[in-house]
Amino acid sequence: MEYDVVIIGSGPAGLSAAVYLKRAMRSVLVIEKEYLSGGQMLLTNEIDNYLGFNHIDGFTLAQKCRQHAQDMGAEFLMAEVTSIAQNEVVLADKTKIRAKAIVVATGASHKKLGVAQEDTFAGRGVSYCALCDGAFFKDKSVAVVGGGDSAAEAGVYLAGICRDVTLIHRRNTFRANNKIVDMLQKCSNVNFALCDEIVSLYGTDNLAGVTLKSGKSLAVAGLFVAIGQVANTAFLPDTVSLAADGSILTDENCATSSKGIFAVGDVRHKTCKQIATAVADGAISSAAILQFLNGDSNEINH
Ligand code: NAP
Repeated sequence: MEYDVVIIGSGPAGLSAAVYLKRAMRSVLVIEKEYLSGGQMLLTNEIDNYLGFNHIDGFTLAQKCRQHAQDMGAEFLMAEVTSIAQNEVVLADKTKIRAKAIVVATGASHKKLGVAQEDTFAGRGVSYCALCDGAFFKDKSVAVVGGGDSAAEAGVYLAGICRDVTLIHRRNTFRANNKIVDMLQKCSNVNFALCDEIVSLYGTDNLAGVTLKSGKSLAVAGLFVAIGQVANTAFLPDTVSLAADGSILTDENCATSSKGIFAVGDVRHKTCKQIATAVADGAISSAAILQFLNGDSNEINH
């Protein structure tokens, strides 16, 4: 198998790159690890900041993006990529796929809190996705930890399902945007534990509560951890330069330090991680990829 471009990941960044590259009549294969395309969009209940869609749920937007790339003629393969080299992508079953250019669009995964018993209670009270697991905690008390958009969105969503929600954040100001913080503050069943941190979890078979640094205990059936993400870059070769946090360093055209390998979306080192910026990465990278395929170089320029 040989393609002009193999894109690893089918979130908004990868799908956007696929649309642009197919429009330029290149052969494109999108490799996706999960059954559904969309990446982290699938974990978002309501999206109100993607231009043209003032109210859309993440699942519906993800389906539209996938359909768009498919209609343009991109091919899709469900498989796990275990390594890449220049011009080659290797799958878990050892299949090798040749590619003139590779786009890494593998996104990011949830960061763990790092307290004892977190893994023991994972799936038994500890969750990293309010949208996926919130319904299991209907009419129960839950806590959310974090102060960014993910935590605030999880808090608002869970407030509509659960008896009460305590938002635990280590500072008294939020990274989350003002609109969602305002919504959170207006929820009558949301409490705040600010300038505090979780030091331990307790329970027998299932989570029963958390103990905070301040000494307080909170009896909760669910703890939603929303403290940021780590880039999915474990499979990358040493030739691709990474930032200290593990995300991929690129130039402004999304070219990595390895010729012919590009990175787009949340896996890329950047400050603003939004659906809009992921889609923009797809468009920007495709222009650079087309130049590269036409024989122009893609030297990194940090
Ligand atoms: P984030 O913005 O990095 O926020 C992580 C939060 O967790 C911060 O408040 C941080 O505290 C806290 N934190 C980190 N490590 C911690 C630890 N060990 N213990 C306790 N608290 C800890 O992460 P995010 O909310 O997942 O968002 C990631 C990116 O996606 C952001 O760019 C965000 O804007 C974007 N996003 C956008 C939307 C949207 O637009 N609808 C939705 C979700 C995410 P400090 O503040 O003290 O550092």
